[in-house]
Amino acid sequence: MAGDWTASRFSGEFSADTKQNLRDLYSNRCAICRQRYESPFGHPETEAAHIHPAQHGGPDRETNGLLLCRRCHWGFDSGWLSLDGDRRIVVAGDETVSGYDYFNQFRDQSLLTPSTADLRPAERFIEVHRKLFGFEPIERGDRLTIGGLRSGELSLADGRRVCIEGAPDEALVVNCTVTAVGSEQVRCAHHRTLETRPATGPEIPDTPFDNTTEVSFDELSNRIQELKDDYVGVTQKWEWGRIFRKARIKSGLSYEEIAEKIDLEGASGLQIERSERVYEMFPEREFEEDGLSYSAIAELQRVFDSTDDIRVAYDCIIETGHPLTVKETRVWVEIMMADADVTREIVREEVETYEELRRGDPSESVRRILEVHAKYESAYEWE
Ligand SMILES: [Zn+2]
Ligand SMILES: [Zn+2]
Ligand SMILES: [Zn+2]
Repeated sequence: MAGDWTASRFSGEFSADTKQNLRDLYSNRCAICRQRYESPFGHPETEAAHIHPAQHGGPDRETNGLLLCRRCHWGFDSGWLSLDGDRRIVVAGDETVSGYDYFNQFRDQSLLTPSTADLRPAERFIEVHRKLFGFEPIERGDRLTIGGLRSGELSLADGRRVCIEGAPDEALVVNCTVTAVGSEQVRCAHHRTLETRPATGPEIPDTPFDNTTEVSFDELSNRIQELKDDYVGVTQKWEWGRIFRKARIKSGLSYEEIAEKIDLEGASGLQIERSERVYEMFPEREFEEDGLSYSAIAELQRVFDSTDDIRVAYDCIIETGHPLTVKETRVWVEIMMADADVTREIVREEVETYEELRRGDPSESVRRILEVHAKYESAYEWE
């Protein structure tokens, strides 16, 4: 029965091994149209395509894969193409839609046979593909392995929504049984959760302006206040930066103008600019919660103009395994801003000017700063 197995893990992509094996199995040729284009540097166009889609729990293995050219891959992922029980090509029937003539030329042709016959596409994955992409009806009692719950956008290629009753909130991929089939919705009963939303990595919430062209500054102001209440430090600035960046792009206003519009304590033009730079530094939100403090990052922002340079400096500090304090960061930044050489003597002199560092362990501070600086220098050595 379709989908009656367990997916080992939510993979998303084929591993490098599986991709290479698929290239070898099909000799870099598209399994549907047989074409084999290459770049001027000899790189083949073809790519590994899932049969049972990865977001629906399709496993990372050769028998769930095909090697396809870009157009056939799109046709296979969009509902134009599928396979029948004898691995012959099936084409969707809509003659009036642009694309039909192209794909229809492959109708009933057989799929290219891979060099190792037992690694040809498995029947059970093909069956899921036919059901998910509308080549075979989904019926009451069907057992499906289905996912895409991460985005909450669980729908079939034909637009029908899939509703899985009893699935826990954190489920990403589940085994379920179809209980009712309608024209707009397919209802299923949850059987087993195969893949769970990872506990780590906070969910990135939607921003308020994703679907609007106009920015409501009341809404913006409320959201910024909320983030101020919910988060501190780098996390707060990152969240701010993400929203301010969108607001600025949509409104066309400057940092200062946005600050005036929302009129919120702590959200000056300068702070808005800095928060956007924090956001830019960590496009995947990949900062360490207990890494360098925001105040220390702000020090780095004073000396380095480009986000990339700040990020390099940040990474150097993190790599040493002990984040600099704000004052230590300031010492490093001050020396660089003065265009002085970062020598032991100068660092010590500068460290001595801060009461807080004098009372601590000044030699240790000097050592840390020199260590970070050496790392930073070596990062640019190849230039
Ligand atoms: Zn092709
Ligand atoms: Zn695909
Ligand atoms: Zn793909």
